[in-house]
Amino acid sequence: GKYQTGNVNRVLTTCPHCATGCQFYLMVKDNKIVDVQPAEGPSNRGLLCVKGRFGSFNFVNSPDRLKHPLIRNRETGEFREASWDEALDLIAMKFGEIKERYGADSLAGFACSRSPNEDCYMLQKMVRCAFGTNNVDNCARVCHSATVAGLAMTLGSGAMTNPIGDITNDVDLIMLVGSNPEEAHPVIGMQIRQAVARGTHLIVVDPRKIRLAKDADIHIRLKPGTNVAFANGMINIIINEGLADEKFIRERTEGFEELKEIVKDYTPEKVAEICNIDVDQLCEAARMYAKAKKAPIIYCLGVTEHSSGTEGVMSLSNLAMVVGKIGKSGCGVNPLRGQNNVQGACDMGALPGDFPGYQKVTNERVVEKFEKAWNVKLSRKPGLHATDVFPAAVRKEIRGLFIFGEDPVVSDPDQGHVIKALESLDFLVLCDLFMTKTAKYADVILPGTSYAEKEGTFSNTERRVQRVRKAVTVEGEMRLDTDIFTDIMNRMGYPQPYLRADEIMDEIASLTPSFGGISHKRLDAGESLQWPCPDKNHPGTPILHTEKFARGLGLFYPAPYRESMELPDDDYPFILMTGRVLYHYNAMAMTGRTPGLVEKSGSSFIEINTEDALRLGISDGDSVKLTSRRGSVVSKARVGDKVSVGETWMPFHFSDAFANVLTNAVLDKFARIPEYKVCAIKIEKAEE
Ligand code: SF4
Repeated sequence: GKYQTGNVNRVLTTCPHCATGCQFYLMVKDNKIVDVQPAEGPSNRGLLCVKGRFGSFNFVNSPDRLKHPLIRNRETGEFREASWDEALDLIAMKFGEIKERYGADSLAGFACSRSPNEDCYMLQKMVRCAFGTNNVDNCARVCHSATVAGLAMTLGSGAMTNPIGDITNDVDLIMLVGSNPEEAHPVIGMQIRQAVARGTHLIVVDPRKIRLAKDADIHIRLKPGTNVAFANGMINIIINEGLADEKFIRERTEGFEELKEIVKDYTPEKVAEICNIDVDQLCEAARMYAKAKKAPIIYCLGVTEHSSGTEGVMSLSNLAMVVGKIGKSGCGVNPLRGQNNVQGACDMGALPGDFPGYQKVTNERVVEKFEKAWNVKLSRKPGLHATDVFPAAVRKEIRGLFIFGEDPVVSDPDQGHVIKALESLDFLVLCDLFMTKTAKYADVILPGTSYAEKEGTFSNTERRVQRVRKAVTVEGEMRLDTDIFTDIMNRMGYPQPYLRADEIMDEIASLTPSFGGISHKRLDAGESLQWPCPDKNHPGTPILHTEKFARGLGLFYPAPYRESMELPDDDYPFILMTGRVLYHYNAMAMTGRTPGLVEKSGSSFIEINTEDALRLGISDGDSVKLTSRRGSVVSKARVGDKVSVGETWMPFHFSDAFANVLTNAVLDKFARIPEYKVCAIKIEKAEE
């Protein structure tokens, strides 16, 4: 993967931002990354977006990098530099004390969905073997946990069914649900746009007039939170008009009668009313989707981030199965995962109920296998979900927390509550690149390394495992994260040898059937592998569920529509949705350190419909005070017709007005995902 041109080294690696998994070269001169050049990767085919092209290296050498371990004095709140030995000894002592006094389940750890598989694997191993608990999770909890749960329940595997190239090349129709790939997954957005230009039909199901909606054959502008009703309505029409694939239903699925019973009530008229859409449009969309030969469903957080998120996901698998559009090229149910390695963090067992490869902690045979391999006694009790860890901390049930590369103060709902939880902890440790908002509450901060300083792999949204390669060494006392976890394991009494990333992948392969044939060696030899890849001669699996579903038969899950938990009323009359913009990623720890991106987009705003703005006497650019039952922020109004009357939308990146001060921390009952996409707010003109 390393090439040399003149005195510039080209290091082939994987983009650290979103889960499209674009391949590029880091151009390295004198141990500094000077540029990024696109490579011909399987998912990006020479394309890159502005984040990958310009936002992937400035942060690596940023003067803000944490360079030494820091210990905070709880009295003064001040941090001081400490040696590694002092910091690690303190962590082992404090976590050891908590474990002894309150039990192993009073400790918890979060893995970083931006860091390589090998790091996530070692993090969960530290939590399971040294902490002694299954309280381990990752930020998929707040983005696609509903996907992992919903697709696993209906199809048997909680992952994207088809490769990106397969669902954008030569398909007849694309149905895009609650996904704005031109901003959140730009290179996939570009490929969809190219497909549409070549004649592929497009149905956009989204409350907002996203750019792709302008090029769609049909834009179903449904009310936020009504996805389940929409899918049930589509299925109702498909069944009634004789468009269902009866052979597929008979041979490959179960539970159809129950589904039929439920969707019977979702007549086009009723659904049009619930979703606030046009009946004819809905019928037309159902016919187009059912009749198209190759038609993938592509979806994202507009489906998952609801209190009914898992049912929203299962409704989409119902829809695809009713027309037999799954297990085939150009079809399937395709979640676009968010962070570069959020798929991998889940695959690696940074989940409270799953060892690597979704092997259950409640399965005795599985637990025994891991006990033997790791030479330790393991807990059989599923751990707490990340979103349940914060309330548990307030109740003093969780006392020690290790957060690896996450910034929940910015990224989790109801910021006030998260801060209260962090302040309630007896001991908080962070391992990160920067002093984040969350880091301020830590007792110890450990300086880790970025993707450009280490070897490893990321798994992108299409289950493709791709290499991450070391390009530079940054000056300072930072250490490899896997070595840090190894240190803590050893200090807490679990003997763990130091392993290189390729050795860690070999251990993963030896314990994880779906990764059995994956190794750095094969990847470095130029192979591109999508799991499941069970053995060394297996070429990987681009399309899932071709012969049979991962669970045997596909399961129809009859989901009734339920309203969002907090709807507008007289006091809080507007729906607030939150989301991302093109130029930034989440809490902006990386993109916020690229001046060009900040120049393009540097502060918060809220989209308000023209009619509402007029009624409130608000003009474009005015300061507005936004208030929910949880708190208030002041932002700038962006007036137009991108959102419907009564609805608003706000990005959650910006520190001048954190959207997550407003959002509601109610959770989906299956996946414990928060309802970021619907809460109620009021809007007032703010004093300048
Ligand atoms: Fe990186 Fe995603 Fe942009 Fe590709 S689309 S360059 S993976 S941010």
